[in-house]
Amino acid sequence: MKIEKRTMKKTGILGGTFDPVHLGHLGLAGDAMEQVGLDEIILIPAKLQPFKLDKKITPGKDRLAMLRLATEDFPDFKVSDYEMTQEGVSYTYLTMRAMQQQEGPDAHLYFITGTDTFLKIETWKEATELLSSYSFIVGTRPGYRREELETCIERICCVYNTVVRNIDNVQLDISSTDIRKRLETGTSAEDLIPRKVERYIIDHGLYRE
Ligand code: NAP
Repeated sequence: MKIEKRTMKKTGILGGTFDPVHLGHLGLAGDAMEQVGLDEIILIPAKLQPFKLDKKITPGKDRLAMLRLATEDFPDFKVSDYEMTQEGVSYTYLTMRAMQQQEGPDAHLYFITGTDTFLKIETWKEATELLSSYSFIVGTRPGYRREELETCIERICCVYNTVVRNIDNVQLDISSTDIRKRLETGTSAEDLIPRKVERYIIDHGLYRE
């Protein structure tokens, strides 16, 4: 059984499309930090999310700028443009290799995900490397499939010897899809996104039909 050594620096990695970043993402990151005792969180927007290659995604520079604005008041949250600067599809195993190199061999890396993301993780490229080399923090949102998640975590821990922390995060029924729909129809999303992000969206004319 793998153990988490208290002396190691604990770094959370929250990857996402962040189109746009919202309070659900920030709540997940904050609760992960508090409940797992992370020293820092690196938020990494994907340039080309492997499962969203056929979707229309807002330009990376805007998603990166919104993420920077959303996190600027949180000194332990860092934003990385690593995936934006790489060629091709943003595969998480490559990002995690790079983050381990950046943070050093003594850093204990936790990839942070929601439930739907984690349930599909064994289908990701180089999933065995990912699941056997890094730890995971899994949060939930209202209506998540509790039994399916518990069974999945149990099996993954057993098969890959993975450390998986299922946290009790604040339940916010928010998705980027709903926010985009609201903005497209001219409805405010000010209760779902940080004020500075809302300002950026308006100033740059994003998410209009
Ligand atoms: P996203 O839609 O921006 O979401 C980012 C994370 O926040 C997800 O894990 C999501 O979990 C969670 N989340 C969103 N809303 C939430 C809420 N209200 N409460 C709690 N959690 C919430 O990003 P994404 O497009 O799913 O991508 C996630 C990461 O997976 C990215 O780093 C991407 O590159 C990676 N990925 C990698 C591969 C691969 O390497 N082959 C394939 C697919 C994705 P849920 O949506 O699960 O709730």
